[in-house]
Amino acid sequence: MGAGQFAPSLKSGGVSGAGMGSSATSGEAKCVFCDIVARRSPAWIVNEDESTMAFLDIFPFTRGHLLVIPKRHGARLTDIPFDDQMALIRSLDEICRRVERRLTPHYNISLNTGANAGQIVMHVHFHVIPRYGVGNPFRATSRAPLTDPDARAVVAELAAP
Ligand code: 5GP
Ligand code: ZN
Repeated sequence: MGAGQFAPSLKSGGVSGAGMGSSATSGEAKCVFCDIVARRSPAWIVNEDESTMAFLDIFPFTRGHLLVIPKRHGARLTDIPFDDQMALIRSLDEICRRVERRLTPHYNISLNTGANAGQIVMHVHFHVIPRYGVGNPFRATSRAPLTDPDARAVVAELAAP
């Protein structure tokens, strides 16, 4: 899907207020990613199809840090039906290709599963984290919130198929 579909843009409240567990009023209870899917919360959406969505992480490790999720709620990969898993991989593949073409051929993909593995949002998601050969972003003690200008620029680069 095209760049038009990332509207509504991430509002300032989305950046500072949304993080780490802010929640829904309906739908899957207390799931911030279900809120994004349902358009109850804003996000910088880069790609969307019938069963998946990809959007920018609000606390990016690096420029272009993306999250790729199934629209169907499930805490972990093994909680969602096989068809949704396959759709998720297809969407991940599309995002990786765009990152390779437009940002960098270097990136990390991760899928944290369970609190002890660092999962904070209990809706399954792949991280795609571009790497630019600058330091080790995973060693940083804090991550700056995504800003609107940065987000707008990255989405403009990545939203077209
Ligand atoms: P986890 O640790 O669960 O694998 O990663 C969750 C990720 O979701 C984190 O990198 C965090 O910055 C991101 N995140 C948390 N809340 C929101 C939100 O409301 N919107 C967006 N776009 N990302 C979020
Ligand atoms: Zn959810």
